Amino acid sequence: MTTIALYRDDFYLSTAEAVVISVHDDGAVELDQTCFYAASGGQPGDTGFFEREDGSHIQLGETRHGATKDVILHRPVDGEPLPLVGEKLVLHVDWPRRYKLMRMHTACHLLSVVCSYPITGAAVGEEESRVDFDMGETIDKDQVTADLMKLVGENHPVYLQWITDEELAANPGIVKSKNVRPPVGLGRVSLVCIGENSAVDSQPCGGTHVSETQEVGAIHIAKIEKKGKENRRFRIRFGAPET
Ligand SMILES: [Zn+2]
Repeated sequence: MTTIALYRDDFYLSTAEAVVISVHDDGAVELDQTCFYAASGGQPGDTGFFEREDGSHIQLGETRHGATKDVILHRPVDGEPLPLVGEKLVLHVDWPRRYKLMRMHTACHLLSVVCSYPITGAAVGEEESRVDFDMGETIDKDQVTADLMKLVGENHPVYLQWITDEELAANPGIVKSKNVRPPVGLGRVSLVCIGENSAVDSQPCGGTHVSETQEVGAIHIAKIEKKGKENRRFRIRFGAPET
């Protein structure tokens, strides 16, 4: 069944009401709408809890897509009770965790600006994120950190623009990822734009991001690892560099 993904239009929506439309044999719950982000494009799915009408909670272990992108499966933690079809719930995203993921995810976009090589992989994490680049050069991680923090400090706006799948297909050059597929298949694709008139960057992405670069806060490149002759793995962490 199809679930309305409220998070696509409001990254800051941490609670919402929903009705259960299906409960699978394996415990996965489908809702009419949701603010829980479903794992995609390197960003983990949301955790949190469902609040039932009697006030009790059902802890949520993971949120992911089903066979297609319009299916969103919410899986309670093992041992938690399952809601009933037709039951009304109040959804509560684990906001401190999600906000860290939004800051980290936005930091990954900034890294792709500072380090303008094709991206071969990315994984957003709460404490550390990694981005892999197709590059053979050696690059100074402290300089990359300084360039990142310059973009953070300049406090550029971060916002979405929507284009159709056809417009994206006609402009393949705007996709930086070599093997991370842009979020096509819904008829429209969100372009994540940074800076006035996309002056800093624009990139197709279905993840969640903060609304201005200053919210990313202090980040640094903790490590750059050589993963083969033409591949470098950058690890981004929160806080100032360790000295
Ligand atoms: Zn993104």
